[in-house]
Amino acid sequence: MASQTAIITGAGRGIGLKIAEALVGAGYAVLGLDRNNDVVQAAKDVGAIGIAADLADPAAAAGAIASAIDQLGGVHLLVNNAGIFRSTPLLEISADEWDTVMAVNARTMLTTTQAVVPAMKAGGGGVIVNMASMGGKEGEPGQAHYAASKAAVIALTRVSAMELGPANIKVNCLCPGYVLTDMGAETRDPDLIAQWEARSPLGRLASTNDVAGHVTFLASEAGAYVTGQAININGGMIMY
Ligand code: NAP
Repeated sequence: MASQTAIITGAGRGIGLKIAEALVGAGYAVLGLDRNNDVVQAAKDVGAIGIAADLADPAAAAGAIASAIDQLGGVHLLVNNAGIFRSTPLLEISADEWDTVMAVNARTMLTTTQAVVPAMKAGGGGVIVNMASMGGKEGEPGQAHYAASKAAVIALTRVSAMELGPANIKVNCLCPGYVLTDMGAETRDPDLIAQWEARSPLGRLASTNDVAGHVTFLASEAGAYVTGQAININGGMIMY
């Protein structure tokens, strides 16, 4: 029987699915949430449980988290990973598009955090890892809403760490650089990928494993004194 329990949002594919696989490997009982129905099979394939839910709907998110905690028998770790990407010139971003990006990328993390904290407190503490982005520190043209939503994640993380630390709940966020998942795949080509690789002193982009390893670290005893941080995983592309 697994000694620790984890809920991961956006676990149907990409970075979230790799985090689920890594945590199962580390001995966690893992439950993945995703609006994509494929999450049920994808999670099963890596030894986790999957529930389909649109987390942008606060009531659906709260219900899914309650069901997840019930199925796991508690929650030690929440990974707020679900997100969407849009590339639109600043002057063409509509109010609806802005609101959608902010709702999915930032507000969902508030909703799920509010839903897990009572159970974490009942269990004596916990760990929350929010997925921000290098874009939250240094965006690119076309990313005004995406970059602003990830900057909001960084700010949410810091205040969450302040408010929840006394309950022994650590909150950090990760700021990956480019990871070649399905996200934004339609906006890139080999030349652009080569330009991105050249930005890193290591000369390569991040793998999903590079990101997942930071989650297992933060959830482990080795990461016990890290909270309120926005941790770069970008091969040195930016250093602040
Ligand atoms: P991905 O392959 O697009 O996976 C994201 C998953 O989140 C998808 O399965 C998506 O479902 C799900 N999701 C989106 N909105 C949701 C909602 N309202 N409710 C429930 N699930 C929802 O992206 P990824 O590259 O793995 O990215 C994961 C996280 O890392 C995101 O927060 C992203 O911003 C961040 N990140 C990515 C990169 C990168 O280069 N890939 C870099 C920095 C940060 P659908 O299939 O239905 O959309």
